[in-house]
Amino acid sequence: MKKYILILICLFLCGCQKQQEMEEIQLFAMDTFMDLKASGENGREALLKAEKEINHLERLFSTTLEQSEVFQINQNAGQTAVSVSDDTLHLMQKAKEYYTLTDGAFDITIAPVVKAWGFTEEVKKVPSEEELQQKLQLVSNDKLRIENNTILLEQKNMAVDLGGIAKGYTSDKVNEILKQEGITSAVLYLGGNVSVIGRKEDNTKWRVAIQDPLEEEKFAGILNIEDCSIITSGVYQRFFEQNGKKYHHIIDSRTGKPAETGLLSVTIVSKNGTMADALSTSFMVMGVEKSSDLWKKSNDFGAIFITNKKEIYITQDIADAFELEQSEYTLHIIEK
Ligand code: ADP
Ligand code: MG
Repeated sequence: MKKYILILICLFLCGCQKQQEMEEIQLFAMDTFMDLKASGENGREALLKAEKEINHLERLFSTTLEQSEVFQINQNAGQTAVSVSDDTLHLMQKAKEYYTLTDGAFDITIAPVVKAWGFTEEVKKVPSEEELQQKLQLVSNDKLRIENNTILLEQKNMAVDLGGIAKGYTSDKVNEILKQEGITSAVLYLGGNVSVIGRKEDNTKWRVAIQDPLEEEKFAGILNIEDCSIITSGVYQRFFEQNGKKYHHIIDSRTGKPAETGLLSVTIVSKNGTMADALSTSFMVMGVEKSSDLWKKSNDFGAIFITNKKEIYITQDIADAFELEQSEYTLHIIEK
C-alpha cells in the first residue's frame, strides 16, 4: 500500500500538476502497479487499447499462467519446440541479442535459479549451495533454441523468465499504440519503469524522479526529459531478509546469487524501452566499470548508477538533464 501511495506522489511531483484533464487508467498487471495517462481527444479510447495490449502481453509472457506461451515453453523443456506468437518470438530474439551484448550478464535461462530463491514463489528463502549448483547446471542460453517461429529449451527442467525485459517491451508496444492513436503527450508508469511520449501539455519537458534507493520517500534526483523510457532496476524493488542480510532479485548467473557489485540501482534512459529494461537488469550484474565500457561503444542510451557509497555516476549524454536532489550524494560524470 505504502508503495502505491509513493508512486502516486511520485507521478504528481513528476510533472502532472497541470495535467488534470489527462485521461488516466490504473491497473495491476505483470505483478506490478501500472498507471497510464494520456491527453488528447481520444485519450480514453487510446488508453483502453493500451490496457488491452498489456493484458494480452501478460497472457503471453507470464511464467505462472498455465496458458501463457512462456509457461508452455518451460513445460515442454527437453521435449518439444513450441510455436509462439510474433511478440514472444521477437522478445526471445531480443533477449538472446542482449545476452550476447552483455557478455552473458542478461540471461533469461536464469529462471530455475530465480525460482530456487523463491522470487517467483510464495515463500522466499536462501537456497543451499548444493541446490544452487544443481540449478546452475540448467542455466544455458546456448540451449535456448529459436527456429522459425518455435522455441525449444533443449534440456529438461530448464526454464526462461522474461521478467527482466517484458515490461520494457510492453512500454514500447503501448507507446506505439498510443502514437498510432494520435496521442502526442502521455506518461506511462509500469512498476519501476516510466515512459513518456512527447512533452507535457504546456510544452515543457517531463520531470521524472529517480528514487533514492536508501530512502523510500526521497528522490535521488530528477530527470528533465521528453519522448523516451526511463527504466530502473534496483536492490530495493524486490527483496527479502534472512538472518539480517538482504537478498535481491537480480541474479549473477556465474554464482547463482544476487549480484554484488556495490550498485543499489541502475537507470537507463533510451528511446528503446526493451533495451533499457534488459540493460538496467544486466548493469546491476556488470557493475559501473564494465557497463560504462558498453556505454562508450554505443550511442542509443544513457545511464545513471547509484552505489552503496552514496555516489551517483551519470553518463555525459544525460548529465545536463539531471538535477541532483540529495546533497549527500557525490555526482560523477562518465565521459566517452
Ligand atoms: P523489475 O521486475 O523489478 O522491474 P528487472 O527489470 O531488473 O526488475 O528484472 C528483474 C527480474 O529479471 C527478476 O525478477 C528475474 O525474473 C529476472 N532476472 C534476474 N536476474 C536476471 C539476469 N541476470 N538476467 C535476466 N533476467 C534476470
Ligand atoms: Mg530489466
